[in-house]
Amino acid sequence: MTYELKAIGVIHSCFKEKFGIPRQPGLVPEAAATLELLPPYNCPEIVRGIEQFSHIWLLFVFHGSPQNRWQPLVRPPRLGGNQRIGLFASRTTFRPNPIGMSAVKLERVESGVDRLLLHLKGVDLLDGTPVVDIKPYIPYADSIPNAEGGFAQNAPPCKHTVTFTDEAATRCHELSHQYPHLRIMIEQLLQSDPRPAYKEEDKGRVYGMHLWDFDLRWRVIGNQVEVLELVMVSSQ
Ligand code: SAH
Repeated sequence: MTYELKAIGVIHSCFKEKFGIPRQPGLVPEAAATLELLPPYNCPEIVRGIEQFSHIWLLFVFHGSPQNRWQPLVRPPRLGGNQRIGLFASRTTFRPNPIGMSAVKLERVESGVDRLLLHLKGVDLLDGTPVVDIKPYIPYADSIPNAEGGFAQNAPPCKHTVTFTDEAATRCHELSHQYPHLRIMIEQLLQSDPRPAYKEEDKGRVYGMHLWDFDLRWRVIGNQVEVLELVMVSSQ
C-alpha cells in the first residue's frame, strides 16, 4: 500500500544545516521558525481557532535525510552513540517513511493577502522542512504524566556553562534587533553541547553551525562552551 502526501506548508527556520539542531522540540525554547502555508492551504479560515492552543503538532518530512537508508537497529545519541536499539524504539530520522513529528509553541498567526504564517518557537526543524499536517496539541490526551520514557526519561542534562568573548557578545547585541533573544537562544542551544556523542577529547577544536545568515563558532573546554564569533555569510 502506498499513499501520497502533499506538503501543506514549508518551515523557515533559524537552522540552516542539520548539525547543531536540538534533538527534540522544546529543548531550546527560543529556537524560532515560521511555517508558511502553501496554496491552497493559505486561506485564514483553515486555521480559524488555532490561536486558542498554545502548542501544535507538526507532522513533517525529514527532507534532509537520504531516503531508503534505514536499518532495523540504530544507535541513539542518548545511549552514547554505541548501543543499538530498534528503529521503532527510537526517534531516528532514518525511517521507512521519513515522517517527523514535533510539538511546538504557537506564538502567533500572521495572515495577509495570500499569505498565512504561523510563528513558532521551540523547534527542532531544519530550514525548508515540508510540513504535511498540523494538529492542535491537546494536553489531556497528549500529555501522559506517568509515562515511562525508557532511555530518554528526562531531558538531557545541560552540563555546560556558556560564555561569550567580547567580540561575540558585541555582535550578538548588534544582531538582537534583527533576532530578538539571540543571546539566550545561543545559550540554550550550546549548554546541552551539540557535539556528536562519540566525540573524543577534541582539544578545543572550533565548531561551527549555520544559524539564520551567520556562522556561529564556539569551542568546548571542560564543561565550558566559549562562543568565539558570529560571522555573516552571504545568503544563497
Ligand atoms: N521531533 C522529532 C525528533 C527527530 S530527531 C521526531 O521524532 O520526529 C531531531 C533531529 O532531526 C534534529 O536534531 C535535526 O538534526 C533533524 N531534522 C530536523 N528537521 C529535519 C529535516 N527536515 N530533515 C532531516 N533531518 C531533520
